[in-house]
Amino acid sequence: MDEFNYKKSLGQNFLQDKNILENIVKVANIEGNSLTIEIGPGSGNLTKEIAKVSNQVLCYEIDDRLETYLDVNLKDFTNIQIIFDDFLKRNLNNDLKDKKYDNLYLVANLPYYITTPIIEKVINSNLKFKKIVIMIQKEVGERFNAKPGSKEYNSLTVYLNYYFNLNKEFIVSRNCFIPKPNVDSIVISLENKDNLLNLKDKNKFNKLLKDSFKFKRKTIKNNLKNYDLNIISKVLEKYHFTLSSRAEELPLEVFVDLSNSLN
Ligand code: SAM
Repeated sequence: MDEFNYKKSLGQNFLQDKNILENIVKVANIEGNSLTIEIGPGSGNLTKEIAKVSNQVLCYEIDDRLETYLDVNLKDFTNIQIIFDDFLKRNLNNDLKDKKYDNLYLVANLPYYITTPIIEKVINSNLKFKKIVIMIQKEVGERFNAKPGSKEYNSLTVYLNYYFNLNKEFIVSRNCFIPKPNVDSIVISLENKDNLLNLKDKNKFNKLLKDSFKFKRKTIKNNLKNYDLNIISKVLEKYHFTLSSRAEELPLEVFVDLSNSLN
């Protein structure tokens, strides 16, 4: 890849360490008749490890300059399909509709500039993933399963914890990438919760979360001033919070109750 002109704007930091690549795939514990989605195969380092254990691999790569590298690197595999397109523009359900598999996985070293949109898209697809294993920026990963009251706790934390059991797996130093990024990374695994809390309207829940955390220092009363504050106050009281509480103090079930009560 010596002559390749890496694009920072596309989050192109390629992982070189074979042990780490293998360990990422191990975390996914791919089994059965499996289909694994990878977003951003780059030159195919991680793809190769996935393809050794997954029956089928479906990759999305936005940069078609990588096609020649992928052709060479993955020439020994017949179970890999690469779609050269922006993952965020794809209709995932359509792409998967003719595929036969029992277990669906997502394993990826994500382009960090679109971590949240990618996760939102995956959740909104309603596809049932057996396990999602993603490498993301370490600071973002710290937020994923932050506890209420900590400074890392934000709307994404609540959103993710509604859907998933999250595990921080291991940290990967910036030195393991070419080119070397400015941040360290973390591998996170996500597994669907068996029993989701009953939510009447997912879109309203998402909007409520974004509004509640809009200004970090502001109270619920200020951030949600366009909502029915009487209803909000009554719900908060049940959990011993008030309109002067801040969003970062409220656990998941309070947001779910608020969202359902406001419908
Ligand atoms: N999988 C490789 C690895 O682990 O070394 C590369 C990972 S690199 C962090 C992210 C990859 O995502 C790059 O190859 C980049 O071109 C690709 N990418 C960036 N934006 C994308 C998008 N919207 N859709 C699909 N791929 C994208």
